[in-house]
Amino acid sequence: MDSRAEKAEAVYTRLNGAYGIPDWRPQFEPVDELILTILSANTNDRNSLRAFETLKARFGGDWDAVRSAPLEEIKEAIRVAGMYNQKAPRIVESLEKLHREVGAYSLDHLAEMPVDAALDYLQSFPGVGHKTASIVLLFCFRKATFPVDTHVQRQSQRLGISRAKAAPLEVKKDWESLLPDADFYSLHLNLIRHGREVCDARSPRCDECVLRSLCEYPQSQE
Ligand code: SF4
Repeated sequence: MDSRAEKAEAVYTRLNGAYGIPDWRPQFEPVDELILTILSANTNDRNSLRAFETLKARFGGDWDAVRSAPLEEIKEAIRVAGMYNQKAPRIVESLEKLHREVGAYSLDHLAEMPVDAALDYLQSFPGVGHKTASIVLLFCFRKATFPVDTHVQRQSQRLGISRAKAAPLEVKKDWESLLPDADFYSLHLNLIRHGREVCDARSPRCDECVLRSLCEYPQSQE
């Protein structure tokens, strides 16, 4: 086994020891997850969830009503998520695409699709990149794809799992090549938690970190 694979396995195991292994439990319908992740760009979870809930409440949970609503009403509903001038048209275009191509506000057909085809399909929606597509596929269908957000990218670089300047797509491929598919969900959630609670972007708390002996960052700062 190469040493990066051993390190990846050790990261996975230690984070599970620190935070537990989260049960895979889809929280949202796939279309809801897609809209929520569109809303989550450049904001925190609290604000994107508030915007999502306001949007659902304003239109009674009816995606057809959102699709045909005046753009200004949608912008108003999602204002708290920021970037509403971009996010509102993306939401409408996504709903238009589902209406036109699927005839329903559903992504259930992705369940039977191979993961690469499902990733390509989701990335054909406006403003949807591999992170958003991977979140929908991993969270809603438990497909074998590893979402990389800013927390995951930063820790992967610091740990030496990925190159210091690796882009998110490279980080995604690193983890996918080093660990079994079944580990992706737990690792993704635990890395995000660790990034928020310990491996902060500006002041990581390396002295308290369960990953310290695996990590290249503390030595690089000496
Ligand atoms: S040792 Fe420091 S830089 Fe490395 S993962 Fe832990 S907190 Fe982050």
